[in-house]
Amino acid sequence: MVSRERWESNYPRWFDWVLEEAEIYDYGRYPVKGMGVWMPYGFQIRRRVVELIRDALDRRGHEEVLFPLLIPETLLRVEKEHIKGFEDEVYWVTHGGLEPLDIKLALRPTSETSITFMENYWIKSYRQLPKKYYQIVSIFRYETKATRPMIRLREVTTFKEAHTVHDSFEDSERQVLEAIEAYKEIYDSLGIPYLISKRPEWDKFPGALYTIAFDTIMPDGRVLQIGTVHNLGQNFTKVFDFKIQLSDESHDYPWQTSYGISDRIVATLISVHGDDRGTVMIPSIAPIQVVIVPIPAGGDEDRVAVTRHVARVLKVLEEAGLRVRVDDREEVRPGAKFYYWEARGVPVRLEIGPREAREDTVTLVRRDTLEKSIVPVEELPSTIKRVFEEIYENLKERAWNYMRSRIKRTENLGEAKEWVSQRRGVAEVPWCGNDECAARMEDELEAKSLGTPWPREDATGSRCPICGRDAVTWIRYAKTY
Ligand code: ZN
Repeated sequence: MVSRERWESNYPRWFDWVLEEAEIYDYGRYPVKGMGVWMPYGFQIRRRVVELIRDALDRRGHEEVLFPLLIPETLLRVEKEHIKGFEDEVYWVTHGGLEPLDIKLALRPTSETSITFMENYWIKSYRQLPKKYYQIVSIFRYETKATRPMIRLREVTTFKEAHTVHDSFEDSERQVLEAIEAYKEIYDSLGIPYLISKRPEWDKFPGALYTIAFDTIMPDGRVLQIGTVHNLGQNFTKVFDFKIQLSDESHDYPWQTSYGISDRIVATLISVHGDDRGTVMIPSIAPIQVVIVPIPAGGDEDRVAVTRHVARVLKVLEEAGLRVRVDDREEVRPGAKFYYWEARGVPVRLEIGPREAREDTVTLVRRDTLEKSIVPVEELPSTIKRVFEEIYENLKERAWNYMRSRIKRTENLGEAKEWVSQRRGVAEVPWCGNDECAARMEDELEAKSLGTPWPREDATGSRCPICGRDAVTWIRYAKTY
């Protein structure tokens, strides 16, 4: 049996181990750096997460589209701040066959420019608004920092980008709130805890008025950005000279927002619900929800009875609409099978031996708590349904409690520094609102600012630890991915 990795004390290695052990994602062997391969089990997890995202957007009136992968350099350069923010990480296609291209083509790093370009043809009047498009595609970024599987990639394979158009600033602000609500729903249904922050001015999306970000704290105390929402204002519509007719018959540039989620949502799902045995799948997402492990014992008669009982239980579960697998590999011992399915996070394991066959029961083992119980077969569908609910609630609560325990609010910069440098998590300190003080704190804490809590939290009575003036809110710092 291969050794396991410690989830909390050795998280980065644990993550590599679980991706390999559970055959989720093959990383580092494909001969292009920063690009990984989704394996069948991982692809099933990814597919269900993508379905969840689609559903949350579709129900809110978003329409799915598919834009070309290539963006001409001329389009990408239209918005100055935007290209400045992406220039050093764009992959360029420079040749078609042997011929150099007249205009270089970028592998999309994101699609604000190409989508705005086409919206200019499609949208003429306020009557068509609000308009909400999204696509789920690969994006490419030539990352120069050390790459990490699913976390820092050169090909992000699961980039959900939504792009919306509005006839007023107020409506674009309403859209930002809707996007935040949709994201909360998505992360909540995966039991992923999050902190919502307004990013500091210097760390907003290139070309946006402001950025709201969802972050989570990974088991090693480092923060991972898992989703962003940008109010783009009129920056892109102005440079594309994209105007619409308003209700008072005048013409003006419409307002836009965009918001994205990446492969990191899967990395987070696998990581926050982990333990030393592997990952634990949220039942609604689990590719296999129940695994049946026959326990062979006794003579031929017992074995026949076990086989028959396994078939009966399988039928009951399939009729209940569950995703079930019977692990009847003869060459593998039950203990090794337990280990195998625990690493993959299958929420419920059923052990069936001669006694279970005799008594028309199963031994049910929950993956999250490893608790065992004996369940009569006739009660199995309802019991499993209840156990799934309990597993989901337990995982979600455990992950939230864990994240909350890793946030420290303090007015003392020394204390904040200790917290962050020991990789305990996020430190929140009072802030006067001055960007220079925030930047000085980044230096002092040797950490990155995540920005201020969203919605804004009052810090009346506290003082900015840098300048001593009254604080207007709190500001968050952490070591980040
Ligand atoms: Zn200050």
